[in-house]
Amino acid sequence: MEDVRKALLNEKKNGFDIVSKEDAIAAESFCDGYKTFLDRAKTEREAADAAVSILTAAGFTPYKRGMKLEPGAKVFSVNRGRAVAAAVIGSEPVEAGANITAAHIDAPRIDLKPVPLYEDSEMAFFKTHYYGGIKKYQWVTIPLELHGVMFKADGERVDVCVGADEDDPVFVITDLLPHLAREQTQKPAATIFTGESLNVLAGGSPYADDGSDRYKLAVMSLLNEQYGVTEKDFLTSELSFVPGGRARDVGFDRCFVGAYGQDDRVCSYGALIALAQSAQIPQHTSICILADKEEIGSEGVSGMQSAWYDTFMQDICSGAGAEYRIFCENSRCLSADVGAAYDPNFPEAYDKRNSPAVNGGVQLMKYTGSAGKAAASDAGAELVSKIRTVFERDGVLWQVGELGKVDYGGGGTVAKYLANRNIDTVDIGVPVLSMHSPFEVTAKLDVYMMYRAAKSFYTL
Ligand code: MN
Ligand code: MN
Repeated sequence: MEDVRKALLNEKKNGFDIVSKEDAIAAESFCDGYKTFLDRAKTEREAADAAVSILTAAGFTPYKRGMKLEPGAKVFSVNRGRAVAAAVIGSEPVEAGANITAAHIDAPRIDLKPVPLYEDSEMAFFKTHYYGGIKKYQWVTIPLELHGVMFKADGERVDVCVGADEDDPVFVITDLLPHLAREQTQKPAATIFTGESLNVLAGGSPYADDGSDRYKLAVMSLLNEQYGVTEKDFLTSELSFVPGGRARDVGFDRCFVGAYGQDDRVCSYGALIALAQSAQIPQHTSICILADKEEIGSEGVSGMQSAWYDTFMQDICSGAGAEYRIFCENSRCLSADVGAAYDPNFPEAYDKRNSPAVNGGVQLMKYTGSAGKAAASDAGAELVSKIRTVFERDGVLWQVGELGKVDYGGGGTVAKYLANRNIDTVDIGVPVLSMHSPFEVTAKLDVYMMYRAAKSFYTL
């Protein structure tokens, strides 16, 4: 009877009961590197820089148009400092298609408005405009760091990073004390904080004269002292508040990683390391795309809908004498983005049978989307089957899953933008708890299996 059960039923097991001891140890040390990456990469620009360091150390060189690309060539290109694509040329003709992983390096955060600085009641504040899907109440009363770039009147670029160093000050959005919050706490969560109320405390000592705007001026003079900038330079800046603090182990057993921005730097890191460590000459060309702007619909020049990604792949094709449309037709893509791990504190939101479990391995998602699969890229079962075969051959711990209950909400990834290019695409990712919060949680075993999955996929 037991044999029949084993042969016929798809029994769900905890990953620790399946993987080898070596894999559990490897997961631990892989996550040390991952946590360092997270601490270096709190914005897409910082993530792009960190990715370039990893690629350069692995022998990749910047792609230059006109380069002849022989099998084994390793090149990368950076899209305006905010996105990266890298390739290793395979032994098969490039026209035979590539194995492409595509993840994103932007994450929800609180951006500054173009005219951010003001004073009120003898304090200085920044006006903000949040980026991506956030539950606003999670972003108040936590330490925030300020990261980004500013351009001065003469065009000189200044990199700003305040709060990452232990001796740095941090910033905060204040909240009303419970004693006076009887009315506030009766409101629905979505309306307790409005976008316009996410004002960040920036200073409180007055400028030493008796003129106007003394609190605002005091902050501006400190910024001028440190960075040489004026208030007008905010107009030509990209500044974001991101959660303070480093990536940490979570739990007595250190089973989890807790950190900001794991959606989707967890898949970005795994896919990137798999490419960086890929075979000297893979059979098929391997490509890793780390895109920007996924959290707001993959729009604009650095988002996955941009022709920049086509240009990169077209350049690869012309460097190897291949036709782009035939290359796309023969390519496959793993759209690597996080999934919603089953959380027993909110059973009402999940179909437990079809939700990924923490420590269950990477999650294959045949489709994403919402309400009747709207806006989904639905992968063909043929591709899912091919991937299942290599994952099982290579001992990749994997599971399937959807994003919560049908009609409860939903979400998309970059998958459909690759699929629209006539590239067979399937979603894969690491299950996350508290997704889009300032402190997202992943299981180390799943983080490691994302890397193993990408490595296995590159052999397709
Ligand atoms: Mn994502
Ligand atoms: Mn997201």
